[in-house]
Amino acid sequence: MMKVLVLGSGQLARMMSLASAPLNIDIIAYDVNNKQIVHPLTQQVIDLSLEQAINDVDVITAEFEHIPHDILNTCSQSGKFQPNPNAIKAGGDRRLEKSLLDNAEVSNAKYHIINSKQDFLDAIDTVGIPMVLKSALGGYDGKGQWRLKERSQIEQIWEEMNELIQSAPNQAMVAEQFIPFNREVSLIGARNKNGELVTYPLTENVHVDGVLALSTALEGTSELQEQADRMFSAIADELDYIGVLAIEFFDVEGKLLVNEIAPRVHNSGHWTQQGADVCQFEMHIRAVCNLPLIGSTLLRSTAMINILGEDTLPSELLTMPNCHIHWYGKEKRAGRKMGHINVCASSPEELQKELIKLSSILDSEVFRVLS
Ligand code: ATP
Ligand code: MG
Repeated sequence: MMKVLVLGSGQLARMMSLASAPLNIDIIAYDVNNKQIVHPLTQQVIDLSLEQAINDVDVITAEFEHIPHDILNTCSQSGKFQPNPNAIKAGGDRRLEKSLLDNAEVSNAKYHIINSKQDFLDAIDTVGIPMVLKSALGGYDGKGQWRLKERSQIEQIWEEMNELIQSAPNQAMVAEQFIPFNREVSLIGARNKNGELVTYPLTENVHVDGVLALSTALEGTSELQEQADRMFSAIADELDYIGVLAIEFFDVEGKLLVNEIAPRVHNSGHWTQQGADVCQFEMHIRAVCNLPLIGSTLLRSTAMINILGEDTLPSELLTMPNCHIHWYGKEKRAGRKMGHINVCASSPEELQKELIKLSSILDSEVFRVLS
Protein backbone atom coordinates (compact mmCIF):
# COMPACT_ATOMS: atom_id res chain seq x y z
CA MET A 1 0.00 0.00 0.00
CA MET A 2 1.54 3.30 -1.14
CA LYS A 3 0.55 6.58 0.46
CA VAL A 4 0.39 9.92 -1.33
CA LEU A 5 -0.16 13.37 0.18
CA VAL A 6 -1.85 15.88 -2.15
CA LEU A 7 -1.52 19.60 -1.43
CA GLY A 8 -5.03 20.95 -1.90
CA SER A 9 -8.27 19.13 -1.05
CA GLY A 10 -10.67 20.05 -3.85
CA GLN A 11 -12.23 18.00 -6.62
CA LEU A 12 -8.90 17.20 -8.26
CA ALA A 13 -7.57 15.53 -5.09
CA ARG A 14 -10.94 13.81 -4.73
CA MET A 15 -10.74 12.35 -8.24
CA MET A 16 -7.10 11.31 -7.69
CA SER A 17 -8.30 9.43 -4.63
CA LEU A 18 -11.12 7.73 -6.57
CA ALA A 19 -8.72 6.71 -9.34
CA SER A 20 -5.94 5.47 -7.05
CA ALA A 21 -7.92 3.28 -4.67
CA PRO A 22 -8.06 0.31 -7.11
CA LEU A 23 -4.25 0.37 -7.22
CA ASN A 24 -4.11 0.20 -3.43
CA ILE A 25 -2.72 3.72 -3.34
CA ASP A 26 -4.10 5.75 -0.47
CA ILE A 27 -4.49 9.51 -0.85
CA ILE A 28 -4.63 12.04 1.96
CA ALA A 29 -5.05 15.75 1.24
CA TYR A 30 -3.79 18.97 2.82
CA ASP A 31 -6.46 21.65 3.02
CA VAL A 32 -4.31 24.74 2.48
CA ASN A 33 -6.99 27.13 3.78
CA ASN A 34 -7.77 25.37 7.07
CA LYS A 35 -4.23 23.98 7.39
CA GLN A 36 -5.54 20.48 8.10
CA ILE A 37 -4.97 17.02 6.74
CA VAL A 38 -8.28 15.69 5.44
CA HIS A 39 -9.70 12.72 3.60
CA PRO A 40 -10.15 13.90 -0.01
CA LEU A 41 -13.55 12.17 -0.42
CA THR A 42 -15.27 12.93 2.87
CA GLN A 43 -13.27 16.03 3.88
CA GLN A 44 -13.10 14.41 7.31
CA VAL A 45 -10.19 15.80 9.33
CA ILE A 46 -7.35 13.34 9.88
CA ASP A 47 -5.47 13.81 13.11
CA LEU A 48 -2.02 14.42 11.62
CA SER A 49 0.10 17.56 11.46
CA LEU A 50 1.52 18.51 8.06
CA GLU A 51 4.96 17.41 9.32
CA GLN A 52 3.63 14.02 10.42
CA ALA A 53 1.84 13.57 7.11
CA ILE A 54 5.02 14.42 5.20
CA ASN A 55 6.87 11.75 7.20
CA ASP A 56 4.10 9.19 6.79
CA VAL A 57 3.67 9.22 3.02
CA ASP A 58 5.80 7.88 0.17
CA VAL A 59 5.09 10.69 -2.29
CA ILE A 60 3.82 14.27 -2.10
CA THR A 61 2.17 16.12 -4.98
CA ALA A 62 -0.26 19.00 -5.58
CA GLU A 63 -3.65 19.61 -7.13
CA PHE A 64 -3.08 23.32 -7.73
CA GLU A 65 -0.28 25.81 -8.25
CA HIS A 66 -1.19 28.61 -5.84
CA ILE A 67 0.55 27.02 -2.86
CA PRO A 68 2.32 29.15 -0.25
CA HIS A 69 6.03 28.87 -1.01
CA ASP A 70 6.97 27.98 2.59
CA ILE A 71 4.74 24.89 2.42
CA LEU A 72 6.10 24.00 -1.00
CA ASN A 73 9.67 24.32 0.28
CA THR A 74 8.97 22.20 3.39
CA CYS A 75 7.50 19.49 1.18
CA SER A 76 10.30 19.55 -1.35
CA GLN A 77 12.95 19.34 1.39
CA SER A 78 11.56 15.91 2.25
CA GLY A 79 12.70 14.72 -1.18
CA LYS A 80 9.22 13.24 -1.78
CA PHE A 81 7.62 16.09 -3.71
CA GLN A 82 6.77 15.69 -7.42
CA PRO A 83 6.72 17.55 -9.80
CA ASN A 84 9.70 19.84 -9.43
CA PRO A 85 8.63 22.85 -7.25
CA ASN A 86 9.91 25.13 -10.04
CA ALA A 87 7.10 23.79 -12.21
CA ILE A 88 4.53 24.67 -9.54
CA LYS A 89 6.06 28.13 -9.16
CA ALA A 90 6.01 28.71 -12.94
CA GLY A 91 2.35 27.65 -13.05
CA GLY A 92 1.53 30.16 -10.32
CA ASP A 93 3.44 33.17 -11.66
CA ARG A 94 2.92 34.32 -15.24
CA ARG A 95 6.35 36.04 -15.30
CA LEU A 96 8.11 32.73 -14.60
CA GLU A 97 5.73 30.94 -16.96
CA LYS A 98 6.54 33.29 -19.82
CA SER A 99 10.30 32.91 -19.38
CA LEU A 100 9.84 29.14 -19.17
CA LEU A 101 8.05 29.17 -22.55
CA ASP A 102 10.83 31.30 -24.04
CA ASN A 103 13.53 29.02 -22.61
CA ALA A 104 11.75 25.96 -24.00
CA GLU A 105 11.57 27.81 -27.35
CA VAL A 106 7.85 27.20 -27.83
CA SER A 107 5.80 29.89 -29.58
CA ASN A 108 3.68 32.06 -27.31
CA ALA A 109 2.12 35.52 -27.42
CA LYS A 110 4.50 38.48 -27.30
CA TYR A 111 4.51 40.01 -23.81
CA HIS A 112 5.76 42.76 -21.53
CA ILE A 113 5.88 42.81 -17.73
CA ILE A 114 4.19 45.76 -16.04
CA ASN A 115 5.12 47.13 -12.61
CA SER A 116 4.56 50.84 -13.29
CA LYS A 117 2.58 53.13 -15.54
CA GLN A 118 5.69 53.66 -17.68
CA ASP A 119 5.89 49.87 -18.15
CA PHE A 120 2.24 49.95 -19.29
CA LEU A 121 3.01 52.64 -21.87
CA ASP A 122 6.08 50.68 -23.02
CA ALA A 123 3.91 47.56 -23.33
CA ILE A 124 1.56 49.45 -25.64
CA ASP A 125 4.57 50.24 -27.87
CA THR A 126 6.08 46.75 -27.88
CA VAL A 127 3.03 44.47 -27.63
CA GLY A 128 0.49 46.72 -29.34
CA ILE A 129 -3.29 47.13 -29.16
CA PRO A 130 -5.50 45.08 -28.72
CA MET A 131 -3.81 43.66 -25.67
CA VAL A 132 -4.73 41.24 -22.91
CA LEU A 133 -3.56 42.15 -19.40
CA LYS A 134 -3.24 39.39 -16.82
CA SER A 135 -2.20 39.48 -13.18
CA ALA A 136 1.16 37.80 -12.60
CA LEU A 137 -0.03 36.02 -9.45
CA GLY A 138 -3.30 34.38 -8.47
CA GLY A 139 -5.24 34.44 -11.76
CA TYR A 140 -7.69 31.69 -12.65
CA ASP A 141 -10.90 31.31 -14.67
CA GLY A 142 -10.11 34.59 -16.42
CA LYS A 143 -10.01 36.55 -13.14
CA GLY A 144 -7.56 39.45 -12.78
CA GLN A 145 -7.65 40.22 -16.49
CA TRP A 146 -8.32 43.29 -18.62
CA ARG A 147 -8.62 43.83 -22.36
CA LEU A 148 -7.16 47.05 -23.79
CA LYS A 149 -8.91 47.65 -27.11
CA GLU A 150 -8.27 51.36 -27.66
CA ARG A 151 -6.09 54.11 -26.26
CA SER A 152 -9.02 55.87 -24.59
CA GLN A 153 -9.15 53.05 -22.01
CA ILE A 154 -5.56 53.52 -20.85
CA GLU A 155 -6.26 55.74 -17.79
CA GLN A 156 -9.22 53.72 -16.52
CA ILE A 157 -7.49 50.36 -16.92
CA TRP A 158 -4.28 51.65 -15.37
CA GLU A 159 -6.19 52.80 -12.28
CA GLU A 160 -7.87 49.41 -11.85
CA MET A 161 -4.71 47.43 -12.59
CA ASN A 162 -2.60 49.55 -10.29
CA GLU A 163 -5.00 48.85 -7.44
CA LEU A 164 -4.47 45.13 -8.03
CA ILE A 165 -0.67 45.54 -8.31
CA GLN A 166 -0.58 47.40 -4.98
CA SER A 167 -2.88 44.91 -3.26
CA ALA A 168 -0.28 42.17 -2.78
CA PRO A 169 3.50 42.01 -2.45
CA ASN A 170 5.25 40.87 -5.65
CA GLN A 171 2.07 41.33 -7.72
CA ALA A 172 2.49 42.68 -11.26
CA MET A 173 0.74 42.48 -14.63
CA VAL A 174 1.75 40.70 -17.79
CA ALA A 175 0.65 42.40 -21.01
CA GLU A 176 0.11 39.97 -23.86
CA GLN A 177 -0.52 40.49 -27.52
CA PHE A 178 -4.15 39.67 -28.30
CA ILE A 179 -4.22 36.45 -30.35
CA PRO A 180 -7.09 36.18 -32.88
CA PHE A 181 -7.38 32.42 -32.46
CA ASN A 182 -9.73 30.09 -34.33
CA ARG A 183 -10.15 27.87 -31.32
CA GLU A 184 -8.57 26.85 -28.03
CA VAL A 185 -7.13 23.39 -27.48
CA SER A 186 -5.21 21.78 -24.66
CA LEU A 187 -2.91 18.83 -24.22
CA ILE A 188 -2.67 16.65 -21.14
CA GLY A 189 0.36 14.43 -20.81
CA ALA A 190 2.56 12.81 -18.22
CA ARG A 191 6.14 11.82 -17.59
CA ASN A 192 7.62 9.60 -14.88
CA LYS A 193 11.08 9.34 -13.36
CA ASN A 194 12.03 6.57 -15.80
CA GLY A 195 11.49 9.11 -18.59
CA GLU A 196 8.39 7.39 -20.00
CA LEU A 197 6.17 10.01 -21.60
CA VAL A 198 2.55 9.80 -22.75
CA THR A 199 0.09 12.35 -24.08
CA TYR A 200 -3.66 12.14 -24.54
CA PRO A 201 -5.40 13.29 -27.72
CA LEU A 202 -5.73 17.08 -27.97
CA THR A 203 -8.90 18.53 -26.47
CA GLU A 204 -10.94 21.39 -27.91
CA ASN A 205 -12.16 23.79 -25.22
CA VAL A 206 -15.03 26.27 -25.20
CA HIS A 207 -15.18 28.90 -22.46
CA VAL A 208 -18.23 30.87 -21.35
CA ASP A 209 -17.54 34.09 -19.39
CA GLY A 210 -13.88 33.06 -19.01
CA VAL A 211 -14.75 29.67 -17.47
CA LEU A 212 -14.31 26.32 -19.21
CA ALA A 213 -17.72 24.99 -20.25
CA LEU A 214 -17.15 22.22 -22.80
CA SER A 215 -14.14 20.04 -23.70
CA THR A 216 -14.16 17.58 -26.59
CA ALA A 217 -11.42 15.06 -27.33
CA LEU A 218 -10.21 15.67 -30.88
CA GLU A 219 -9.95 12.94 -33.48
CA GLY A 220 -8.06 12.92 -36.76
CA THR A 221 -5.83 15.91 -36.08
CA SER A 222 -2.44 14.21 -36.36
CA GLU A 223 -0.53 17.27 -37.58
CA LEU A 224 -1.82 19.47 -34.76
CA GLN A 225 -1.21 16.66 -32.29
CA GLU A 226 2.42 16.37 -33.43
CA GLN A 227 2.97 20.10 -32.87
CA ALA A 228 1.41 19.86 -29.41
CA ASP A 229 3.40 16.73 -28.50
CA ARG A 230 6.66 18.42 -29.55
CA MET A 231 5.92 21.45 -27.38
CA PHE A 232 4.90 19.20 -24.52
CA SER A 233 8.28 17.42 -24.65
CA ALA A 234 10.16 20.71 -24.84
CA ILE A 235 8.37 22.13 -21.78
CA ALA A 236 8.55 18.87 -19.80
CA ASP A 237 12.29 18.66 -20.53
CA GLU A 238 12.86 22.28 -19.54
CA LEU A 239 11.13 21.63 -16.19
CA ASP A 240 12.56 18.13 -15.67
CA TYR A 241 8.88 17.37 -15.17
CA ILE A 242 7.32 14.42 -13.35
CA GLY A 243 3.54 14.01 -13.16
CA VAL A 244 0.64 15.16 -15.32
CA LEU A 245 1.18 18.49 -17.06
CA ALA A 246 -1.50 20.40 -18.97
CA ILE A 247 -0.79 22.90 -21.73
CA GLU A 248 -3.39 25.32 -23.11
CA PHE A 249 -2.92 26.47 -26.71
CA PHE A 250 -4.41 28.89 -29.18
CA ASP A 251 -4.98 27.33 -32.59
CA VAL A 252 -4.35 30.04 -35.19
CA GLU A 253 -4.98 28.63 -38.66
CA GLY A 254 -3.52 25.27 -37.67
CA LYS A 255 -0.49 26.74 -35.91
CA LEU A 256 -0.34 26.34 -32.13
CA LEU A 257 0.79 29.01 -29.65
CA VAL A 258 1.05 28.15 -25.97
CA ASN A 259 -1.31 30.21 -23.81
CA GLU A 260 -0.42 28.81 -20.41
CA ILE A 261 0.56 25.67 -18.56
CA ALA A 262 -0.89 23.96 -15.49
CA PRO A 263 1.52 21.74 -13.53
CA ARG A 264 -1.26 19.34 -12.56
CA VAL A 265 -4.34 17.49 -13.70
CA HIS A 266 -6.66 19.88 -15.51
CA ASN A 267 -10.37 20.50 -16.04
CA SER A 268 -9.93 19.99 -19.79
CA GLY A 269 -8.70 16.44 -19.08
CA HIS A 270 -11.73 15.23 -17.14
CA TRP A 271 -13.07 13.48 -20.27
CA THR A 272 -10.27 10.90 -19.87
CA GLN A 273 -12.32 9.26 -17.09
CA GLN A 274 -14.56 7.77 -19.79
CA GLY A 275 -12.53 8.34 -22.95
CA ALA A 276 -9.30 6.53 -22.08
CA ASP A 277 -8.26 3.34 -20.31
CA VAL A 278 -6.23 5.30 -17.76
CA CYS A 279 -7.69 8.66 -16.74
CA GLN A 280 -5.52 11.71 -16.04
CA PHE A 281 -5.96 11.26 -12.27
CA GLU A 282 -4.62 7.70 -12.26
CA MET A 283 -1.96 8.78 -14.77
CA HIS A 284 -0.74 11.52 -12.45
CA ILE A 285 -0.51 9.16 -9.51
CA ARG A 286 1.23 6.56 -11.68
CA ALA A 287 3.72 9.20 -12.84
CA VAL A 288 4.59 10.57 -9.39
CA CYS A 289 4.83 7.01 -7.98
CA ASN A 290 7.05 6.03 -10.94
CA LEU A 291 4.68 3.34 -12.22
CA PRO A 292 4.31 2.50 -15.94
CA LEU A 293 2.46 5.05 -18.06
CA ILE A 294 -0.07 3.39 -20.35
CA GLY A 295 -3.61 3.77 -21.64
CA SER A 296 -3.72 7.33 -22.97
CA THR A 297 -5.24 6.58 -26.39
CA LEU A 298 -8.85 7.48 -27.19
CA LEU A 299 -11.33 4.67 -26.54
CA ARG A 300 -14.42 6.37 -27.97
CA SER A 301 -15.65 9.85 -28.84
CA THR A 302 -15.97 11.77 -25.58
CA ALA A 303 -16.84 15.27 -24.40
CA MET A 304 -17.08 16.91 -20.98
CA ILE A 305 -19.59 19.52 -19.85
CA ASN A 306 -18.93 21.47 -16.67
CA ILE A 307 -21.76 21.82 -14.14
CA LEU A 308 -21.48 25.38 -12.84
CA GLY A 309 -23.39 26.66 -9.82
CA GLU A 310 -25.96 23.83 -9.77
CA ASP A 311 -26.31 20.83 -7.46
CA THR A 312 -29.11 18.96 -9.21
CA LEU A 313 -29.64 17.60 -12.72
CA PRO A 314 -32.79 16.31 -14.44
CA SER A 315 -33.29 12.71 -13.28
CA GLU A 316 -33.55 11.63 -16.92
CA LEU A 317 -29.75 11.88 -17.13
CA LEU A 318 -29.43 8.85 -14.87
CA THR A 319 -31.26 6.81 -17.50
CA MET A 320 -28.70 7.65 -20.21
CA PRO A 321 -25.92 5.05 -20.20
CA ASN A 322 -23.56 7.24 -22.22
CA CYS A 323 -23.78 10.18 -19.79
CA HIS A 324 -21.51 9.89 -16.78
CA ILE A 325 -22.15 12.29 -13.92
CA HIS A 326 -19.28 13.26 -11.63
CA TRP A 327 -20.30 15.39 -8.63
CA TYR A 328 -17.63 16.94 -6.42
CA GLY A 329 -19.66 16.95 -3.19
CA LYS A 330 -19.29 20.72 -2.82
CA GLU A 331 -21.70 23.24 -1.39
CA LYS A 332 -23.66 25.13 -4.05
CA ARG A 333 -22.42 28.62 -4.89
CA ALA A 334 -23.12 30.78 -7.96
CA GLY A 335 -20.77 29.90 -10.81
CA ARG A 336 -18.86 27.32 -8.76
CA LYS A 337 -17.53 24.18 -10.43
CA MET A 338 -19.88 21.62 -8.85
CA GLY A 339 -19.29 18.63 -11.10
CA HIS A 340 -19.11 17.58 -14.73
CA ILE A 341 -20.84 15.27 -17.20
CA ASN A 342 -18.82 13.07 -19.53
CA VAL A 343 -20.70 12.15 -22.69
CA CYS A 344 -19.60 9.24 -24.88
CA ALA A 345 -20.56 8.07 -28.38
CA SER A 346 -19.39 5.74 -31.12
CA SER A 347 -18.23 8.56 -33.45
CA PRO A 348 -17.77 12.35 -33.46
CA GLU A 349 -21.05 12.66 -35.42
CA GLU A 350 -22.94 10.58 -32.85
CA LEU A 351 -21.34 12.65 -30.09
CA GLN A 352 -22.68 15.86 -31.63
CA LYS A 353 -26.13 14.28 -31.73
CA GLU A 354 -25.83 13.34 -28.05
CA LEU A 355 -24.86 16.91 -27.17
CA ILE A 356 -27.88 18.24 -29.05
CA LYS A 357 -30.06 15.77 -27.19
CA LEU A 358 -28.57 16.90 -23.89
CA SER A 359 -29.22 20.54 -24.75
CA SER A 360 -32.93 19.74 -24.87
CA ILE A 361 -32.81 18.14 -21.42
CA LEU A 362 -30.51 20.48 -19.50
CA ASP A 363 -31.39 24.00 -18.31
CA SER A 364 -30.27 26.30 -21.12
CA GLU A 365 -29.54 29.15 -18.65
CA VAL A 366 -27.05 26.97 -16.77
CA PHE A 367 -25.63 25.11 -19.76
CA ARG A 368 -25.36 28.05 -22.13
CA VAL A 369 -22.54 26.40 -24.05
CA LEU A 370 -25.00 23.84 -25.45
CA SER A 371 -27.45 26.38 -26.85
P1 ATP B 1 -7.94 29.35 -16.48
O1 ATP B 1 -7.31 29.23 -15.15
O2 ATP B 1 -9.43 29.14 -16.48
O3 ATP B 1 -7.27 28.56 -17.56
P2 ATP B 1 -6.77 31.94 -16.55
O4 ATP B 1 -7.43 32.90 -15.65
O5 ATP B 1 -5.53 31.29 -16.08
O6 ATP B 1 -7.80 30.86 -16.97
P3 ATP B 1 -6.01 32.39 -19.32
O7 ATP B 1 -6.18 30.98 -19.70
O8 ATP B 1 -4.67 32.96 -19.52
O9 ATP B 1 -6.48 32.73 -17.85
O10 ATP B 1 -7.06 33.30 -20.11
C1 ATP B 1 -8.45 33.04 -20.05
C2 ATP B 1 -9.04 33.10 -21.45
O11 ATP B 1 -8.86 34.41 -22.02
C3 ATP B 1 -8.36 32.16 -22.44
O12 ATP B 1 -8.89 30.87 -22.33
C4 ATP B 1 -8.67 32.85 -23.76
O13 ATP B 1 -9.99 32.59 -24.17
C5 ATP B 1 -8.57 34.32 -23.41
N1 ATP B 1 -7.20 34.82 -23.65
C6 ATP B 1 -6.16 34.75 -22.81
N2 ATP B 1 -5.04 35.27 -23.33
C7 ATP B 1 -5.37 35.70 -24.57
C8 ATP B 1 -4.64 36.32 -25.64
N3 ATP B 1 -3.35 36.65 -25.52
N4 ATP B 1 -5.31 36.61 -26.78
C9 ATP B 1 -6.63 36.31 -26.91
N5 ATP B 1 -7.37 35.72 -25.94
C10 ATP B 1 -6.77 35.41 -24.77
MG1 MG C 1 -6.41 29.24 -19.04
